[in-house]
Amino acid sequence: VFISFEGVDGVGKTTQVERLRAYLESRGCEVVVTREPGGTALGGRLRDLLLNGVDADAADAAADIAARAEALIFAADRAQHVAEVVRPALERGAVVITDRYLDSSLAYQAGGRELTADEIRNLSMWATGSLMPARTYLLDMDPDEAHRRLTHEDDRMESAGDDFRSRTRDAFRHLAGREPKRFRMIDAAYPEETVWARIKADVDALLDD
Ligand code: ATP
Ligand code: C5P
Ligand code: MG
Repeated sequence: VFISFEGVDGVGKTTQVERLRAYLESRGCEVVVTREPGGTALGGRLRDLLLNGVDADAADAAADIAARAEALIFAADRAQHVAEVVRPALERGAVVITDRYLDSSLAYQAGGRELTADEIRNLSMWATGSLMPARTYLLDMDPDEAHRRLTHEDDRMESAGDDFRSRTRDAFRHLAGREPKRFRMIDAAYPEETVWARIKADVDALLDD
């Protein structure tokens, strides 16, 4: 079973991924937790480029990777991630939980950077051999509030402005509306326990199916 977590920066994806890991392990499942960008050794190098830019000392680190180049780097990260981690784990029957997947590209590279959604989707389908999650939890809340939860310094992408953030959130919500069978949209403004209770109820239903 392949499960993804999506949502804007700071909504609580990593927090809930770890809760789900612990829960599924307690149920006796083999669980593989992974993430994008950076789920492989190649991905780690690509993540560093994406988050820090080509020249960390440049005055405008955000401008040194063109939008289309950025989209291709995310796609390369995803291709390696699927080939090296996700497919092998699914083939041996593990539950794979990924912290971000192709919907992030649709939200950030299409919604945020305003590239064409169909092109970004086709690129990702090519990169992954059309591997789609069985379930996607979209953690949804006001993106500025979510951003304020973060305590670390902004990376190259997190320093994007309010408009970028709100386009990204809107794109995620639009995606969830298009594919109601795959997505579960969860109000992430609630306390961690409440968010988890909702995810757990749905996962129990998904796995007992
Ligand atoms: P990023 O996109 O930057 O990786 P994220 O979506 O993975 O962020 P987390 O790192 O899980 O988000 O959470 C961001 C911060 O908010 C952490 O300090 C975390 O403890 C806190 N947090 C997580 N869930 C909640 C919640 N439901 N309510 C309040 N704070 C939360
Ligand atoms: O979730 P995580 O903190 O690992 O994401 C790293 C950064 O990459 C975040 O700032 C996120 O906004 C950005 N990102 C992106 N496009 C994607 C995936 C992540 O801009 N497809
Ligand atoms: Mg995270």
